[in-house]
Amino acid sequence: MLITPHALVGIAIATQFDRVWMVAPLAIGSHFILDSVPHWDLDTEDISKKDVFISALDVGLAIFLATILTWGNSDWEMMWLGGLSASIPDAHNLLNALYNSPKRLKKYTLVHNKYHYGKYVRFLPGIALQLFVIMMSLVVMSL
Ligand SMILES: [Zn+2]
Repeated sequence: MLITPHALVGIAIATQFDRVWMVAPLAIGSHFILDSVPHWDLDTEDISKKDVFISALDVGLAIFLATILTWGNSDWEMMWLGGLSASIPDAHNLLNALYNSPKRLKKYTLVHNKYHYGKYVRFLPGIALQLFVIMMSLVVMSL
């Protein structure tokens, strides 16, 4: 799944809990649950320039939305913790791309992929689900 829905779910979790020891593990756990749902995703095995461009847009959008949602909020630190905790399980993709799949990361990548929905999902239904996740996160944040 793209980083933006992961980050917003993490932020939504942070709006519902006020303890770091609850927010960080729940946000990390949400990452693997969301990855197991059928969704459209970038090819992380054979990364093209288009994939890098879309990833940069995705991360930029996540940072932009997190900034808007947390701006002036007294719980901004917890919200950023939730957003980052929910996103960090995908950091291995960046490290794999930059350092050509270091050995230590291969084990983690295998574990991560074990929870990842493995079948191809077409773009429109796969993105629609991610937009739905984003909208539900915004609803939870407003509670
Ligand atoms: Zn992931």
